[in-house]
Amino acid sequence: MADWITGKVVKVQNWTDALFSLTVHAPVQPFTAGQFAKLGLDIDGERVQRAYSYVNAPSNPDLEFYLVTVPDGKLSPRLAALQPGDDVQIVSEAAGFFVLEEVPDCDTLWMLATGTAIGPYLSILEEGKDLERFKNLVLVHAARYAADLSYLPQMRALEERYKGKLRIQTVVSRESVPGMLTGRVPALIESGALEAAAGLPISAETSHVMLCGNPQMVRDTQQLLKETRQMTKHLRRRPGHMTAEHYW
Ligand SMILES: Cc1cc2nc3c(=O)[nH]c(=O)nc-3n(C[C@H](O)[C@H](O)[C@H](O)COP(=O)(O)OP(=O)(O)OC[C@H]3O[C@@H](n4cnc5c(N)ncnc54)[C@H](O)[C@@H]3O)c2cc1C
Repeated sequence: MADWITGKVVKVQNWTDALFSLTVHAPVQPFTAGQFAKLGLDIDGERVQRAYSYVNAPSNPDLEFYLVTVPDGKLSPRLAALQPGDDVQIVSEAAGFFVLEEVPDCDTLWMLATGTAIGPYLSILEEGKDLERFKNLVLVHAARYAADLSYLPQMRALEERYKGKLRIQTVVSRESVPGMLTGRVPALIESGALEAAAGLPISAETSHVMLCGNPQMVRDTQQLLKETRQMTKHLRRRPGHMTAEHYW
């Protein structure tokens, strides 16, 4: 049985009509960067719970979650209505295997995210542990519009902090913006545009690819990398080149 505790919302940041971040204070158990918590609210006498990735580094007590309001969603519109001072239920123990411990050594670690799935990578990069074993880090955030890239200033600050080791690349699918790639992630890999922009190859010899977010992006990218780069899913019993987390 999940161990629920009551957290207090201390900050609500509304980025766009649909995107927002919640900062929560709650005495949760230690977690690993890349893991998710469960948030819950009692709606009509029933506990409604969903998974949300931690955005903050594990060492930071401001528990941060980055959400999109799903129209007609059961929980996310209710979470979007929370105000500082409100209570929210949170499962004390984090879960998930989308963590660096599950990623083998390689030259270049690619971190691909759509939408709100940038969170796990921000947690990993803010924590900054266990990254010495990679020569290059590439963080790719894909969204529909540039206005949806809520954490771009933080991504830029991380790029500076990592002094050339980390490259960031933004991708938008519904507009054209200087400095950003336009299109869908699998198509930009297929055309070579993503690797050209990053100045690094995606190959089975040099790379590991983490994929997080929209299941269609995750599946299509995995399929493409399997067919064109001979990259395989990483399993504990059979090491490979791709690690993924689907958000739905
Ligand atoms: C491991 C894991 C981590 C997750 N982390 C996050 C997170 O950090 N931030 C976050 O916003 N969501 C995250 N999700 C999704 C989240 O758990 C809920 O599914 C989402 O908030 C919708 O819940 P709902 O009750 O409002 O919608 P529901 O009534 O449950 O409707 C679900 C539908 O909403 C859509 N949907 C779900 N998640 C998203 C999304 N992120 N972007 C666009 N459409 C979506 C899908 O079409 C899905 O079928 C995560 C899911 C998993 C499995």
